[in-house]
Amino acid sequence: MARALYIHIPFCNAICYYCDFARVINNADTVDQYLAVLKNDLDSRDLSHIETIYIGGGTPSALTLNQLEVLFTMIKPYTKNVIEYTIEINPESLTSEKAELMSAYGINRASLGMQVSQAHLLKVINRSHTNEEVEAAVNALHAAGINNISLDLMYGIPTQTLEDVKESLDVITSFKINHVSIYGLTIEPDSVFGKLGYKPAPDDLDADMYELAIDYLNSKGIKRYEIANFAISGKESLHNQVYWSYDDFVGVGLHASGKENNQRYTNTRNLKDYLAGDISPQVIKLSKEDQMFEFIMMNLRMKKGFDIKRFNQRFDEDFNSLYADVLSGLIRDGLLNLEDDNLSASDNGLNLLFYILEKFMR
Ligand code: SF4
Repeated sequence: MARALYIHIPFCNAICYYCDFARVINNADTVDQYLAVLKNDLDSRDLSHIETIYIGGGTPSALTLNQLEVLFTMIKPYTKNVIEYTIEINPESLTSEKAELMSAYGINRASLGMQVSQAHLLKVINRSHTNEEVEAAVNALHAAGINNISLDLMYGIPTQTLEDVKESLDVITSFKINHVSIYGLTIEPDSVFGKLGYKPAPDDLDADMYELAIDYLNSKGIKRYEIANFAISGKESLHNQVYWSYDDFVGVGLHASGKENNQRYTNTRNLKDYLAGDISPQVIKLSKEDQMFEFIMMNLRMKKGFDIKRFNQRFDEDFNSLYADVLSGLIRDGLLNLEDDNLSASDNGLNLLFYILEKFMR
């Protein structure tokens, strides 16, 4: 049974140059049509065991107050057992009224797209908020009673330096937040950067920025609990941990993905089709071997790793004998730790997860 629900709102007021998500420029009429279809999509799913909800985008906070109320009202019947309810916010589109509305409908966590603190770098990626707007958004959320706040940091942006990353971290940690997600810029072919032929940052600069962020955030007590996610103890994202634990989740909305009943699906990316009610998900059936590998891949992203008894029960296998050779080599090399049946990647192992996973491929 799915424990998590992702809802995609694809509307943005401007398009960031690195973005290749399913998104379109915000338009009031299209949003209204979208919300009507979204309700049918939502109501057609089995959401009886949902514990976490994540409204992502796009820019959900770009919707008007009325549109947000329509959205939250359609979700409300499914919030009975929900313990974490998150919405993505672009700082410049949040108002106190929107924050209060979010809180009134049970939203208790916000993920703010900040990315960097320097105006010239925000211009490079075509984002337009100021640090003051980020601070105002954080304060408005707290005032509304939403105290669980995450900020995004991006590194590897063209012309960005190590000093810029450090400065952004200084600014981020000066706000009252308890979670940080970091993203290395990738140049996607369908993004504006990709079309303009931009090159990614050199690998060693990218790695230095990543390590700087890890050391800096750890030193502030915002500890890495997943490859790219950091939190004050107890504030780790429950929703994302459903993905990383390889449990089932429902995806609703344009190009949203889900995993249920040994299948992964991704809804259509075509907005016209979606608005016509044709969700046409692409479905991939997952073999037992696929699932065993994906279970390991996802769970090892988390610093806490996983209990191998959970693997054994789920797949009716014996993990230790299946992977005896792989395990002994990776443990000997200091990349994996095995303690009381709990397997986890070491700090170095988290940095070399691709290498580890290659060994588990059969
Ligand atoms: S990165 Fe987010 S805010 Fe920017 S265009 Fe993409 S979906 Fe919209």
